Amino acid sequence: MAAARTLLKAVIMGPPGSGKGTIAERIVKDFGLKHLASGDLLRSQVMSKTDVGMLADKYITRGDLVPDDVMLKLILNELQGEQLRSAKWLLDGFPRTIPQCEGLLNTIQLDVVINLDVPFDEIINRVKDRYIHESSGRIYNLVFNPPKVAGQDDITGEPLIQRHDDKAETVAARLDNYKKKTEPVLDYFSKRELLINFPGRFSNEIWPRVHTELSRYVQPLQYTEYK
Ligand code: AMP
Repeated sequence: MAAARTLLKAVIMGPPGSGKGTIAERIVKDFGLKHLASGDLLRSQVMSKTDVGMLADKYITRGDLVPDDVMLKLILNELQGEQLRSAKWLLDGFPRTIPQCEGLLNTIQLDVVINLDVPFDEIINRVKDRYIHESSGRIYNLVFNPPKVAGQDDITGEPLIQRHDDKAETVAARLDNYKKKTEPVLDYFSKRELLINFPGRFSNEIWPRVHTELSRYVQPLQYTEYK
């Protein structure tokens, strides 16, 4: 793979609490990719009260998946816009179903799917230290990524809260659900030789491997080390 390439079309996957947000942020920084998170795109549609937003809102509030045709239209539209600009992006939260995978691969030649393979026991143990800034969605971890001032968001200084669903049983159920739902998607990408698994317990342990691997596809802007 020529390191001088400047395009990269990647998907990131990983169970909730696996450090996906952290790794995605690092990829964006070191490779200059655009981060396209399906949940964020949906939330901005909901806020702007578009037709898609109003339809999606019902599913999101019930905790259900938004129908595939709606999702595909939204995401492909966004990607085609990016395609015209730079075609350097990292998709996050999409695809979540086989029809979404098919729709994506029928339209776009994907380079790689990064899968953060963090053991569930680690995630359950870690979630209890997780705090969020509710209005922005910024996530902190008291051990790995503490806020600069205890209990406060780094940017706004507003109070951080702990989500009531960050309890061990709830987290275990969520992880089981994630596994059931995403296994077919992981299999789908694996069969097409697009999937790269990154087993590990900590973001700082996984990150250098992700960086090295992505550098095979595209020239990084830099390498940021985290200790
Ligand atoms: P997230 O921020 O990724 O957890 O997404 C929030 C909500 O948006 C999910 O619970 C779903 O209702 C919806 N959503 C996000 N991505 C997708 C997707 N790829 N397919 C269907 N629904 C989605």
